Amino acid sequence: MKKKNLLYAGKAKSVYYSDTKGKLIVEFRDDITAFDGGKKDVLKNKGSYNAGVSAFFFEYLEQHGVKTHFFSMIDPYHMVVRHLDMIPLEVIVRNIAAGSIVRNYPFKEGTPLDPPVIVIDYKDDSRHDPMLNDEIILALKLVTPAELKTIKKMALEVNRLLSALLAGQGITLVDFKLEFGRQGKTIYVGDEISMDSMRLWDKKSGESLDKDVYRFEKGDVMAIYNQVAQRITKSKKKQQ
Ligand code: C5P
Repeated sequence: MKKKNLLYAGKAKSVYYSDTKGKLIVEFRDDITAFDGGKKDVLKNKGSYNAGVSAFFFEYLEQHGVKTHFFSMIDPYHMVVRHLDMIPLEVIVRNIAAGSIVRNYPFKEGTPLDPPVIVIDYKDDSRHDPMLNDEIILALKLVTPAELKTIKKMALEVNRLLSALLAGQGITLVDFKLEFGRQGKTIYVGDEISMDSMRLWDKKSGESLDKDVYRFEKGDVMAIYNQVAQRITKSKKKQQ
């Protein structure tokens, strides 16, 4: 499959048309950014670690009945995906209080959230991704009430599946962000699920295994991404 024209370039990924109708090619670049693009770098191999982990999670979710945009990998940096009509929502599931929920609300970092808390932000860099509520989402007609229900149900199912998978590798899934898109009436998980979009803590040491290492300069980001990618991918071999 060949890359055609660029459809969209984000902060860390570029999306291209392909020579096959209905299929796009996502390139996971080596760019890394944080704080609304305020901090940015290029880190060798980063794209391949995130692409590999995303592909692994998408395949795992598909095997467990969750619809995702994933088709296949062309090479370590390029993923073939279904061409979706993307919904501009960032759907965050939180199992433990960390990050913005601690900054913005009186939660103590590390407090378990049971049941998990779903937070939905409007994906718009110029507005700094403001948090929405169901009424605003429906008033903006971003989704139908039925789609909103489906999205929340899928987000919780992804959380259940990935929390269990990662726990088997000694990793706590603290929180993560999903994006969704539709084709016809069907909703799919799109975008990526990687160290850039999740908060992962080592169960034993409590050490961060995700983009917080980059955000807060907690260590050698690429050494950790490499180690986590290996650890997560190993859970597949264990499962088989
Ligand atoms: O920053 P905050 O605590 O709200 O992030 C919650 C989770 O969502 C984190 O895992 C973060 O990496 C992810 N996220 C993301 N993209 C955003 C905002 C948050 O992947 N634009």
